[in-house]
Amino acid sequence: MPDQDLTRFILLPKLQLARMERVAETRTFIFHCFTNTKTAFCPHCGLETNFVHDHRVVKILDAPHAEHRKLLKIKKKRFRCTGLGCKKVFTESIGGIHKHGKTTERLKKEVLYLCDRYANMKGVRNHLKIGNKTIYKKHYEQLEIKWRERKNDPWPKTIGIDEHS
Ligand SMILES: [Zn+2]
Repeated sequence: MPDQDLTRFILLPKLQLARMERVAETRTFIFHCFTNTKTAFCPHCGLETNFVHDHRVVKILDAPHAEHRKLLKIKKKRFRCTGLGCKKVFTESIGGIHKHGKTTERLKKEVLYLCDRYANMKGVRNHLKIGNKTIYKKHYEQLEIKWRERKNDPWPKTIGIDEHS
């Protein structure tokens, strides 16, 4: 697999890997990434801008990787809108991560899958290397999304035996 493809496989589409760090004590892989975006659309007025104001590093927990916790440290660009009368500064968004999220969408999905698979929190915790609080929160977030999807679907194809509606 060429380097670029491998990076995309491990990371998210917009991200490029600067360097990788392994912390043995906490069994954590830290992926130091930057974004390959050149421009962004201002969320206030919709104008496209390429004026980079400054940067900000965010820490995002991702789905585990080979028995290790996976942390993304992303150097995000903060753009300044060049629109007359706007000039607002905004941070670029990254697909797969919610605006103020601390975890990736794929970690959330994995929590849901594992909660279905393992009967107890310990199994999920061991597999994902994350705390109970995070598991509960992500699990219920995902269940709520699923529930909403199902509610909007007038003809559900499958109905679980544990559902009472
Ligand atoms: Zn603007």
